[in-house]
Amino acid sequence: MTELTSMTCRELTDWMKEQGYPAFRGKQVFRWIHRGADFGEMTNLSKDLREELVGKAVAQPVRIRLERKSPADGTVKFLYELKDGNCVEGVLMRYKYGVSLCISTQVGCRMGCRFCASTLEGRVRDLTAGEMLGEILCANRYLAPEGEKVSHVVLMGSGEPLDNYENVIRFLRLLREEEGVRLSLRNVSLSTCGIVPKMYALAEENLPVTLCVSLHAPNDEIRRQTMPVANTWSIDEILEACRNYIRKTGRRVIFEYALSDGVNAGEEQAKELAEKLRGMQCHVNLIPLNTVAERDMNSVSEENVRRFLKVLEGRHISATRRREMGDDIEGACGQLRRKTINSSEGE
Ligand code: SAH
Repeated sequence: MTELTSMTCRELTDWMKEQGYPAFRGKQVFRWIHRGADFGEMTNLSKDLREELVGKAVAQPVRIRLERKSPADGTVKFLYELKDGNCVEGVLMRYKYGVSLCISTQVGCRMGCRFCASTLEGRVRDLTAGEMLGEILCANRYLAPEGEKVSHVVLMGSGEPLDNYENVIRFLRLLREEEGVRLSLRNVSLSTCGIVPKMYALAEENLPVTLCVSLHAPNDEIRRQTMPVANTWSIDEILEACRNYIRKTGRRVIFEYALSDGVNAGEEQAKELAEKLRGMQCHVNLIPLNTVAERDMNSVSEENVRRFLKVLEGRHISATRRREMGDDIEGACGQLRRKTINSSEGE
């Protein structure tokens, strides 16, 4: 089965021609796909053609298997099902400026961060570009009755985007296709645990996405305690790659810092972090660690967050406490998937 969702309009047109159909069919099918339609709904195609296509290709590789809406803030958590039965998660958040969707880039993850639920069973497989796009298309269909659509995308669900580099780049380019969803890459954020060579590569792609880096520590010693990737690249190497990214794209970098009591949340660490980031065009997102049942790490009090923030601000580091949304619906990465897999909820 050929997955058409990963193709550019041009590639789809070529594929159609190879199958013996007229070229203009390519554009028609492309348009339908990017509006979230499956073959059955492509009403300007003959019934015969649609049936032929069903036999040899996939138009929508993702479907929503389960959704949970937070009564508190309207956040929606999706459990997406892929064609092979694997599941990934997405979270839809409503802000004043639009609708933001957090998408997954891999089934599972192999980065092994100690605080994270997505990585508990390692990486199962990479998502294709079409599957990442499919996450958005499903959300757009979900939003359509409300007259809304996804305006912002964050690659912060399960998986390490830079460990699935080619597919992620293809996905980002698909967002800009003329007949596609036409999402501005300025509204897209990509979060990485710090795969340095790929951060340099990304800076050369001419894709103006916001780079977010999961730092979570002010020095390598602490970072190695929670993030195995820190054994391969040092914080200094990561920061150098960030400076390069800022130079090349003109965009500030965002650092994510999940505070965990007794690990990285003391005033001493705040000072050290401020020192490390001094003079950089960056912003720090602080978040109290979301405790995961299988993990032995603790969160921090609001008072601790405030104290940490104050130290950064006092040293002129731009920082905010990230709003937590969807706490009541297993909002944190990997949690809903695990729960569903373990209990077969939603069957
Ligand atoms: N692999 C990428 C993106 C996925 S994780 C990365 O590492 O950036 C998205 C963000 O959630 C990362 O900053 C990650 O470190 C953070 N995260 C994972 N588990 C968390 C938890 N239990 N509490 C708070 N943040 C967590």
